[in-house]
Amino acid sequence: MPNLKELVIIGDGFAAAVMVVHLLQRGISRSSITVIGPGDLGKGNAYNCASLFFRLNVREDLPIVFSEDPLHFARWAEQNINDPQAKTEAGYFYRRQDFGRYVCELITQECESDQLEQIKAKVLNLTGAENNWHLELDNQSTLIAKKVIIAAGNPSPNWPCKVTLQQPTSVTPRLIENPWTGHFLESIDAQENIILLGGGLTALDAINALEGRKHQGMVYVIAPRALFPPEQAPWQKQGQPSWPQNVSPARLIRFMRNYLPSAPTNSAEWQSAWEELRPNLNALWQQFSPHQKKSLFKRLGWLWSLYRFRASPQTIAAYQRLKEKNQIQFVMGRAKEIKCSEMNVTALLGNGIEVEGDRILNCTGVASDQLLQQLIEVGLAIPDPLGHAIAVDKNFRVMHLSGEHWNSLWMIGPGTMGSLGDVIAASAIAKQAEQLAIQLS
Ligand SMILES: Cc1cc2nc3c(=O)[nH]c(=O)nc-3n(C[C@H](O)[C@H](O)[C@H](O)COP(=O)(O)OP(=O)(O)OC[C@H]3O[C@@H](n4cnc5c(N)ncnc54)[C@H](O)[C@@H]3O)c2cc1C
Repeated sequence: MPNLKELVIIGDGFAAAVMVVHLLQRGISRSSITVIGPGDLGKGNAYNCASLFFRLNVREDLPIVFSEDPLHFARWAEQNINDPQAKTEAGYFYRRQDFGRYVCELITQECESDQLEQIKAKVLNLTGAENNWHLELDNQSTLIAKKVIIAAGNPSPNWPCKVTLQQPTSVTPRLIENPWTGHFLESIDAQENIILLGGGLTALDAINALEGRKHQGMVYVIAPRALFPPEQAPWQKQGQPSWPQNVSPARLIRFMRNYLPSAPTNSAEWQSAWEELRPNLNALWQQFSPHQKKSLFKRLGWLWSLYRFRASPQTIAAYQRLKEKNQIQFVMGRAKEIKCSEMNVTALLGNGIEVEGDRILNCTGVASDQLLQQLIEVGLAIPDPLGHAIAVDKNFRVMHLSGEHWNSLWMIGPGTMGSLGDVIAASAIAKQAEQLAIQLS
């Protein structure tokens, strides 16, 4: 059969790269693996950053790729990264582009790049079933695979509201729909007033970059709450909570509330307790029904995101410096429309407030994945309980009916969060890759 591949990995980011590394280390042959993704294998959306100001939000001992050698990255960083500004009281927070370089090197160490087949394209459609999966690529080619692992990661952001262009061709540079790489920074004039739509880690990256480039204009942050995630503290896990039996969502919340100290959330004491709670949460999450997962996320998803994704000390320091100079202001609300003219850009909020600036950056996070949507539409997959991606079982097999799964289609990475819990950080994804490689070998 022409173009028949043994095992295809869809995606070229961190998840795809660590999947390759763990498969090779378990004895799967290079010639049986084909990676499909448009960029350098290992960088993906998270670590393919042009900006030197975009840093990891975790200290050096936390991105763990090999569970038996947790300090592998920390050692590599010490030898290969020259970045005096990485050092803080809470540990070393390296640039994301340097972490991308590390992941690319892992691949090079495992195999010469020409020995691993990577097709530089995106998969538009995945059809077929079990024995043969048909993949349609955006370079007009098609191929057939016996097994497929989806590692498509974080879908690039889309505007969360209507965008009205009053001068369609000449004004689009005012609208930065995807700020993840940081390329937009080159074109920003220091006097511009910048609107950041969203108040999470992407907004903090932009603040760190603008402040680092000595920005002089105003920065407006549009968010439902005037709060940024807390700064990482030098936390260390001290103990292990003794969880009660049969934890319901309500009991989980009560238990976590009682376990967490009343200290501030940016203190080492509070963050240590939070990190002691985390290792058990995925197993508990997996026991909840789809309805329980949905209502828990609806009630507490924003709080979870706030404290789970803490910020690097560098970004919070940059925010404080802008604040001292009265150069940054929160505007509370949600955008319902963005209007862009030749002269400026205006965000109209649902509460009637209008915010005007020279440029707007979309810092609202991931969009929805077209490939996963397509799988749901043709009935090859079902939505996960949160409706964010597709459902998988605890062995990462894609579900096609409630209780039924494919034996030749898997997914790892952030898309598995609705089914499996907190799988967003690099170390959680690497663990999934390690477990799936064991199954496949
Ligand atoms: C901007 C950003 C910053 C982050 N920072 C951190 C951090 O500091 N620390 C941390 O622990 N975690 C961080 N994360 C979390 C992140 O989810 C993981 O660390 C990890 O990088 C995710 O890897 P991934 O390969 O699953 O996804 P991604 O990094 O999103 O890579 C997925 C890749 O797959 C490609 N792809 C998508 N669809 C297709 C398709 N249909 N066909 C072919 N290719 C496709 C994409 O183009 C992309 O290159 C960050 C995430 C983002 C988005």
